[in-house]
Amino acid sequence: MIVNKHCRALLFKRLPKHCRQLKYFSSSSSDEYDLVVIGGGSGGLACAKAASQLDKKVAVLDFVTPSTQGTTWGLGGTCVNVGCIPKKLMHHAALLGQAVKDARAYGWNVSDQVQNDWATLSTAVQSHVKSLNWGHRVQLHNKGVEYINGLGSFVDAKTVKVTDQNGKERHLRTKHAVIAVGVKPYIPSEIPGALEYAISSDDLFWLKKSPGKTLMVGASYIALECGGFLNGLGIDTTIMVRSRPLRQFDQQMAGLVADYMESEGTRFLKTCVPVSIDKNREGQLVVKYEDLSNRQIQEEIFDTVMFATGRHAVIKNINLEGIGVKIDEGAQKIIGDHDNDHERTNVPNIYAIGDILHRRPELTPVAIMAGQMLAERLFGGSQLQMNYDLVPTTVFTPLEYGVVGMSEEEATSKYGKDSIEVYHAFYTPLEFVVPQRKASHCYIKAVCFEDRVLGLHLIGPNAGEVIQGFSVALRCGATWSGISRSVGIHPTSAEEVVKLHITKRSGLDPTVTGC
Ligand code: FAD
Ligand code: NDP
Repeated sequence: MIVNKHCRALLFKRLPKHCRQLKYFSSSSSDEYDLVVIGGGSGGLACAKAASQLDKKVAVLDFVTPSTQGTTWGLGGTCVNVGCIPKKLMHHAALLGQAVKDARAYGWNVSDQVQNDWATLSTAVQSHVKSLNWGHRVQLHNKGVEYINGLGSFVDAKTVKVTDQNGKERHLRTKHAVIAVGVKPYIPSEIPGALEYAISSDDLFWLKKSPGKTLMVGASYIALECGGFLNGLGIDTTIMVRSRPLRQFDQQMAGLVADYMESEGTRFLKTCVPVSIDKNREGQLVVKYEDLSNRQIQEEIFDTVMFATGRHAVIKNINLEGIGVKIDEGAQKIIGDHDNDHERTNVPNIYAIGDILHRRPELTPVAIMAGQMLAERLFGGSQLQMNYDLVPTTVFTPLEYGVVGMSEEEATSKYGKDSIEVYHAFYTPLEFVVPQRKASHCYIKAVCFEDRVLGLHLIGPNAGEVIQGFSVALRCGATWSGISRSVGIHPTSAEEVVKLHITKRSGLDPTVTGC
């Protein structure tokens, strides 16, 4: 009887647990693996667990190099420790501050002196993060994945060296290796004082004291999200914008997001760049910056300067040159095989997933799905490839911005202005009415070509929740006629999507009135 790889895995799964344990003794040496994953973040953990579920012998290595300010954290990678999770909790804390203000109009007796206590907030966030670190360790143990807290690097394509924090080395022989080392905050070292005095998002979530008056350098996802929640927590916040906020997004939507933040008290220093940072005798940071529009140098004092100027790959220490894995010289990221096996590098048994893979979205669900699908292809007989199109995302700014698909600019350049139809609406979330909150930035647009929805954009409360559902529809091939014939759920903000009917071309007022 011929039994293929997939059937063998299934049969093996049906064996009693004590028989399945035999796999650990079947290899000739305890340091021989089916899969070694370098990097225990979103992608690496997902891939390691999925491979182990297919009864493979798997090790995952994770090592956190401290931030420029010496911050360090536990297992789980960026998302868990210094990304999505602490960010979303702090965003929620800021939204609660707004909700407390709104509550007065709804009859709650709330003092005028509502204040956030940073130490309480950060302790709560950090203790949740630590519980997730522990949860990941338990899961790896329960799923039979060996976790090694050490820095991985290649000796050759089939040997990974692990160095622990005491410098002790171990060599792991493996059939396959997955590189899932993520990326790190980039702070421009040419700006005097930047590396010495500034923090990055890796530090912000672990600060014990409130950052105080803060300058955020950069104007993309991280700067706007962190700047947004700091301002919402009552902290004096300035965002320094080099070119435009959210430059890689639909520019009409980006403009609305930033305008709303400005109207809520976040200060924007437009077309400015930092020149130097120094510390004064009081321990505050003196920032010199240049206004690029008139070349003038100005100076201002802040308590904290945070750089959110992008995230770069740090791969020098894993010896990719030594084993011949091709990288993009500019991005320093690993080049995957775009035509056949998306996550495979040019070295046949070595793969890359997550943020370190060149030209792929830097998002947690992308890293997780790519990792799981790769494990299923390597060990489960699957042939399915990760689909990187129509990946939804949300910028968790005070008014969230959720999007799936193309911007209006992308659609115009691909199909021509006259061929696309843009349906749009300014709407008022019902919950804004009683406290008389300004709703002039709550906006939706659907970018369509013939009956295809190319892009859907929404600014408003819970935009992430709304766009998640619509992204499934788009993935399943939703058409504009299908969406506009769907029945809404009343009263919600999401129903405004299925009620869209005014085109930009018509020039009619897109403000939704009535119920
Ligand atoms: P990572 O999660 O970065 O994991 C890589 C791991 O490998 C790290 O633990 C690293 O220390 C370790 N490592 C590196 N080199 C080695 C080595 N040589 N040996 C051993 N270990 C090594 N995404 C979203 O989808 N939604 C969000 O809301 C969101 N918010 C974010 C907010 C912030 C502030 C940031 C910074 C990111 C956010 N992201 C968000 C992006 C998301 O965190 C990343 O896309 C995701 O974590 C990438 O996963 P990864 O597995 O590629 O890498
Ligand atoms: P980005 O690369 O998206 O943006 C970098 C920002 O810094 C830009 O505004 C850029 O300006 C500016 N900048 C770069 N260099 C300088 C400099 N020398 N001086 C002044 N300004 C500078 O990086 P982020 O760090 O915001 O985000 C990284 C990735 O993390 C995102 O692409 C995203 O995938 C992921 N992420 C996802 C989140 C989510 O899902 N909600 C949240 C946070 C991060 P300019 O435009 O002029 O180049």
